[in-house]
Amino acid sequence: MNRQPQASDTDVGQATPPVDRDELLLGRLREMGASVDRLRSADEWQQYLKAVARLNSYSVGNMLLIFCRYPDARLVNGPKAWHKLGRRVVDDAWDEPIMILAPRLVKDKKDPNRKKLIGFKPVRVYELRQTEGQDLPDEGWELPPKGEVPGLWEQLVLLAESDGVTVAMAADNEGPPGALGWYNADLRTIKVREQRPDTLLHELSHHFDPELAGSTRAARELVAESCAAIVADQVGLDVTTQAEKYLAGWGGGEVALLRVLDRVQRAHRRFAPLVEAVNDGR
Ligand SMILES: [Zn+2]
Repeated sequence: MNRQPQASDTDVGQATPPVDRDELLLGRLREMGASVDRLRSADEWQQYLKAVARLNSYSVGNMLLIFCRYPDARLVNGPKAWHKLGRRVVDDAWDEPIMILAPRLVKDKKDPNRKKLIGFKPVRVYELRQTEGQDLPDEGWELPPKGEVPGLWEQLVLLAESDGVTVAMAADNEGPPGALGWYNADLRTIKVREQRPDTLLHELSHHFDPELAGSTRAARELVAESCAAIVADQVGLDVTTQAEKYLAGWGGGEVALLRVLDRVQRAHRRFAPLVEAVNDGR
């Protein structure tokens, strides 16, 4: 179904159909050669999470556009930002930008304080390999090596507590058998059987999932495992992710998968102070 507003809708004075952001975005991504369905394979999903860990701040749509062009992208900027870093786009690459999307917003006639999304317009950016010039400083943009991360448990507890979540050790007879930890959203409590950062990271990812309530178990676990994998990459924690287990059983369509990706990135952003604190303390 085409849910984009047609010019004729307003011309003849009919109500404009509501713009479905996800459908609009998916349509634009398809036109530009990026596909959400590509991520249904476990390998591609893992690679995508790594790309999010490296590139950090892009929206889901733009991450997909960058990932489909360069799955191993390390650093992406517009020409001006590259210039500030002392680099320039090489001549051969100039006409081959990665096109990402900027939202097209117009004033909402019903509420002048609000803007409404009517579409997306392409913006040119370039990956590191398409540029030349000064060497980049070593620190601050490459992911740290994997290993033990001193102080990570304490930082996770701090982050949980700063958001009103209590972390406590479980009694022997408490909780689901076999579970290393669990999160109770009503009580804002995380219980764990051992002081393992990977367990706490997973449970805290559930807490930061913006659509935890009312979500299916597969989607909830996929969000938490994926968010935890990105944070783990950014702080250098070695974890075995179960994301592919939940991805394999995934029955949702393209829109549902797009929503999961969006939840992952929104949950992940909540870990920004922790990632910064851990890497500053190295
Ligand atoms: Zn879980």
